[in-house]
Amino acid sequence: MAKEVRTRFAPSPTGYLHVGGLRTALYGWLFSRKHGGKFILRIEDTDQQRFVDGAVDLIYRSMAETGLTYDEGPDIGGNYGPYIQSERREIYKEYADKLVEAGGAYYCFCDKDTLDAKRKIAEDKGEAYRYDRTCMNIPLEEARKRIAAGESYVVRQRIPDEGEAYFDDLIFGHISVDVAELEDGILLKSDGLPTYNFANVVDDHLMEISHIIRGTEYLSSTPKYNLIYRAFGWDVPEYLHLPPVMKNEKQKLSKRHGDASFEDFLQKGYLKEAIVNYIALLGWSPGTNQEIFTMEELYKAFDVSGISRSPAIFDVQKLTWMNEEYIRNMDVDAFIERARPYFAEAIDPDQFDMHVLCAALRPRISTLCDIPEKIAFLAKMPDYDIELFRHKKMKTDPVMAADCLNACKAVLETVEDWRIDPIHDALSALAQERGQKPGQLFYCLRIGITGTAVTPGGAMEAAYLIGKEETLRRLDESLSKLA
Ligand code: GLU
Repeated sequence: MAKEVRTRFAPSPTGYLHVGGLRTALYGWLFSRKHGGKFILRIEDTDQQRFVDGAVDLIYRSMAETGLTYDEGPDIGGNYGPYIQSERREIYKEYADKLVEAGGAYYCFCDKDTLDAKRKIAEDKGEAYRYDRTCMNIPLEEARKRIAAGESYVVRQRIPDEGEAYFDDLIFGHISVDVAELEDGILLKSDGLPTYNFANVVDDHLMEISHIIRGTEYLSSTPKYNLIYRAFGWDVPEYLHLPPVMKNEKQKLSKRHGDASFEDFLQKGYLKEAIVNYIALLGWSPGTNQEIFTMEELYKAFDVSGISRSPAIFDVQKLTWMNEEYIRNMDVDAFIERARPYFAEAIDPDQFDMHVLCAALRPRISTLCDIPEKIAFLAKMPDYDIELFRHKKMKTDPVMAADCLNACKAVLETVEDWRIDPIHDALSALAQERGQKPGQLFYCLRIGITGTAVTPGGAMEAAYLIGKEETLRRLDESLSKLA
């Protein structure tokens, strides 16, 4: 590749980062990193009606969280700024005038009422409305005079009278439409702001974007954009249009169902690393069986030939599996730090041996949100039913439990060094002495000190974590239940 690779992510500040948008950003980032190029963040906020407060900050935050570092952007600057479209007004105006001069556009003075009336006539006849080019042949001098006199106007693209509008997409190949099907759309509105159709072309050219990576919703309008590039005499960039990410074959991911955005999944307790890793594989295959990737491995493996043309289906189960892998394999201190707020919902993390707790817990959770419920027994023993001690296979029942717990209590009182090994040794010796299966003893003890038959880790871990004093207190509580 001769030219420097420059890709961009160009989100509109809508207030959330859609999974599809995150994938677009990620592929742009991977592509630029792979080729030693630059990745640029541009905020597309010309549609002021869609503007949501705080949405731009959310974009910065999401980019930082996902590790999609950019080389140029509104908050870090760069040589091609401003990187926020609403701050580029003058630039669009200047280029709209230039395009008129180059013959690729014209000034249009048709007012809204006239256009609405024409649209209605067409619709009444059951015809599709298209702008009738009333203003196309107004001599330029005359148009400029009318503008100078303060008349309201828009700038419209002048679609050539015949021929094809086309482009080559690196994923979808050659895409071409007959210009007869295209309308002279508005490029600059009467308020002086550009439409997306114009802004994206001007910005991508001026920012020297070499590869435009975005969703397939822009596939059908790209031939039109290329007409603008050609009218200016500009080099056209390379294009990669990415198929959508769907919930299933028919339904889109939806904000309403809480499965559409990066933030939705963070909130559900998925790790950002797992989300990003999973999303990388949504519609791209490395051509090997590898599924867990670091960011560096990802960009090294990334290749356009592995991108699929068909819509990607978001498989929550697969994401959950990947999340479990990340939870299990993450550095334990990093995990404790990350999961701290979830632990804090149930316990005071400073009061517990977090390394022992995590060793027991990590293999048993799918998301961080599973943590509080799984460790609630540490804070307080629930008021359980003594029938819990009755287990057919274990051959235990409340009467035997009372006997076991009494014996456990007597032995545990003597354990000075309250660590798992000494606790284990003392209890194993007890089981042997009593001629009892250790499993039976531990089963009763676990219930007797946690109030539940399922805990992360066994009875010994539970006793150790809860602490000697509290273990003995809980044994008393259970014994009085059993009495
Ligand atoms: N601002 C557009 C969007 O959020 C991006 C289009 C593009 O990447 O060209 O959909």
